[in-house]
Amino acid sequence: MSETDKEEERKPVQRVSVTETRLKISEDGTRGVLLGKKCQDCGQTFFGAPQFCLKCTSANLKPVELTGEGVVTTYTIVRQAPPGWQGDVPYLLATVRIPEGPHIASEVVDCPEEDLKVGLAVELTMRVGGTDKNGKEIVIYKWRPRPS
Ligand SMILES: [Zn+2]
Repeated sequence: MSETDKEEERKPVQRVSVTETRLKISEDGTRGVLLGKKCQDCGQTFFGAPQFCLKCTSANLKPVELTGEGVVTTYTIVRQAPPGWQGDVPYLLATVRIPEGPHIASEVVDCPEEDLKVGLAVELTMRVGGTDKNGKEIVIYKWRPRPS
C-alpha cells in the first residue's frame, strides 16, 4: 500500500446523495436542499428532474431549489417494509405538499406515531441510510415535525 492510499484511509467517511437529481447535500452530508424543475411556459414546479413538463409537455424547464418544509397531506404506518429497507419497522411514511406545489413522499422521523396527522407542519432532515459500493454513506431526505 502506498502513502497515498494511507492518506485516503484517514479521511472522514464521504457522503453521497441518494438521488442527485432530487437532493443536493453539503460536503459533510448534514445539510441538504431538495431539487426540482420549474416549467418556464406554464409555471408548474416538479420535484426531481423530469425531461418534459408533466402539465403542458414543454421542454423549457429550469432547475430550481425547493423549500425544505411543507405540510403532511397523507400518511401511512408501514409495518411490512419493502425489500432493501434498512431502517426501523414499523415506520411512518408521509406525503408532504411543499409551497411550490409538488408532493414529496418520505419517512417521517423524530415523530411519535400518535403525533402524525394530516396538516402537520414538517421540515426536511437528512439521515444516512446505508453505504454504497464505494463505501460512501448514502444520505436520504426525510421529514420531521417542524418545531413550533
Ligand atoms: Zn408546463
